[in-house]
Amino acid sequence: MIPFLDLKAPHQELQSELDEVWARVRDSGWYILGPEVDAFEREYAAYCGAQHCVGVANGLDALVLALRALGVGPGDEVIVPSNTYIATWLAVSAVGATPVPVEPDEATYDIDPTLISAAITPRTRAILPVHLYGQPADLDPILALARAHGLAVVEDAAQAHGARYRGRRIGAHGDVVCWSFYPGKNLGAMGDAGAITTNREDVADRIRVLRNYGSRVKYVNEVQGVNSRLDPLQAAILRVKLKHLDAWNERRQAIAAIYQSELAGTDLVLPQVPAWAEPVWHLYVVRTPVRDQLQQALTEAGIGTLVHYPIPPHRQAAYAALGLGAGSFPRAEAMAQQVLSLPIGPHLTQDQAAQVVAAVKAQQ
Ligand SMILES: *Cc1c(COP(=O)(O)O)cnc(C)c1O
Repeated sequence: MIPFLDLKAPHQELQSELDEVWARVRDSGWYILGPEVDAFEREYAAYCGAQHCVGVANGLDALVLALRALGVGPGDEVIVPSNTYIATWLAVSAVGATPVPVEPDEATYDIDPTLISAAITPRTRAILPVHLYGQPADLDPILALARAHGLAVVEDAAQAHGARYRGRRIGAHGDVVCWSFYPGKNLGAMGDAGAITTNREDVADRIRVLRNYGSRVKYVNEVQGVNSRLDPLQAAILRVKLKHLDAWNERRQAIAAIYQSELAGTDLVLPQVPAWAEPVWHLYVVRTPVRDQLQQALTEAGIGTLVHYPIPPHRQAAYAALGLGAGSFPRAEAMAQQVLSLPIGPHLTQDQAAQVVAAVKAQQ
């Protein structure tokens, strides 16, 4: 049996370090914000090459608070990929704005920058690229368009911890970069957690206030904020796991390299990595018109796979009101029919990857 992802193994590998963290937080007397959260924010900002990091409760809140901090609200439009996890769209809707989908580049799965300008209207306030599957989006043309039209750039980096775009880590290319530390992400907590990173002091400051009831000084509320604080126990766990992130991303890279070379002769469409991208392989996604048969065969061979994602946001009941019927975003719709995520993670062995390859080839 090869599981799609083993969530226990990373914590077993770090057992003694994590046991110490629990004791440290227990004995600290700080259970809301405090020194562990401050330290994680410093360490993660440094890791990302960003000036500021603000910890929040989860990745969706990171996106919502980023948009609120930039003043995006009712009547505004935000450009989003048509093929993303629904959280990207939900954040836009949560602030009362409208998600405006743009199709992905079929080679990289990330938003196609050549299609963005046609989606810009007088109501557009921001572009929200997603570094999907751990592959950085092509940020330079997006940033150039944003500058030309006076738009903000909010990056959804929930799948891209450690990825580099043109040699520089994701973390401060756009106005705000939003992170999720959901347990299955490349940097995952043992529960919900999230953060934003930015070089904009004003935005970091506003999110710090918004996440804590709109308050800077206790019982003084300057705006109507929310409770979306990063939990100190999760921050302390993330500090331990951050030290292993690069090594664990390298292990993912080694698995991806096996798939890239061993599956090259098959009928599968494999992920393509542009010269400017250093992905971190959050997911290894192949495409085939016979996806369901392949998934079924792998299941029978004891190999866990998943589909990211089976229904694009515009075809979800949640977005029926937008009236975007079947065929309105054909690239996203075809991907939803054809993509399959093979097992990958820091605790998948190279031998297991070879078994996945053999099982895939047996179907060819
Ligand atoms: C995981 C994820 C999110 C949301 O993160 P949560 O911490 O679960 O709220 C947002 N966007 C993308 C692309 C994600 O993969």
